Amino acid sequence: MLEHKENLFEGWSQVFSVKEVLFKKKTEHQELVIFDSATFGRVMALDGVIQTTEKDEFVYHEMLTHVPILAHGGVRQVLVIGGGDGAMLREVLKHASVAEVTHVEIDREVIDICERYLPRHSDGAFRDERVKQVIADGVDFVNETLDRYDVIISDSTDPIGPGEALYTRSFYAGCHRCLREKGILVTQNGSAFMQTDEIVTTAKRLKPLFEDCAFYGAAVPTYVGGIMAFAWASDEPSHRATSLAVLKERYTQAELATRYYTPEIHQAAFALPRFLVEAIEG
Ligand code: SAM
Repeated sequence: MLEHKENLFEGWSQVFSVKEVLFKKKTEHQELVIFDSATFGRVMALDGVIQTTEKDEFVYHEMLTHVPILAHGGVRQVLVIGGGDGAMLREVLKHASVAEVTHVEIDREVIDICERYLPRHSDGAFRDERVKQVIADGVDFVNETLDRYDVIISDSTDPIGPGEALYTRSFYAGCHRCLREKGILVTQNGSAFMQTDEIVTTAKRLKPLFEDCAFYGAAVPTYVGGIMAFAWASDEPSHRATSLAVLKERYTQAELATRYYTPEIHQAAFALPRFLVEAIEG
């Protein structure tokens, strides 16, 4: 059987058994592959790095959307950067309180191909009237837009290729610029165990910009290397301290059907292993 080998980390790979390659092409920005795997359903990889699988995508998308939205409690405008597979939009749109989602993706082909081969990811989100689609580099958008957002979600690739721009001071400053007062920025920040340096760099770049910077985590099986870390930044420290009772009330009111997120996991996700706390605190 064919195999897809991901070499994200020096000297350590994960290998998928491939039943069928459904799409493969070098787009304007990256190499895009979608294959049907023996274990995780359909899988999308960009420049060889696993982006999402049908079997475990819900963990990542639920934790990068419902944690900031339920902590905030009054989200109307959301900005999603990256996320060309559409699953982040799908989860944000589950919140009836959200009036508009702006989706900024650099590679139009990722959207088109994922809508065709990973339809359950977007589940119609790209056609939702609340979604405003923009094809642009996220770092340019956040530094130029006149719009303001309650939550910004950076659902980027790893800091290689086009994704690198979404880990820069310029990007974080641009996010701070277009966040509303009490707004929250969350980003994917890689494996806590294997990409600790990237997390430390993000912390150093966010701390001068925001009152409250933290990280939270979730275990996503195909993002190998232990818990996946998510950066959190806001000028409203109280959001991160939202009580379990309030989270439960908001979760119930939102009538969310989740498979990973619970208010208890929301709170527990911010408890980080000591090695990571010490690395972040320097
Ligand atoms: N869940 C994945 C992960 O954690 O690695 C990310 C999934 S999503 C497919 C990543 C998206 O970021 C891709 O659609 C890619 O085209 C987009 N992207 C990369 N760099 C970008 C940039 N500078 N501006 C906007 N979108 C970008």
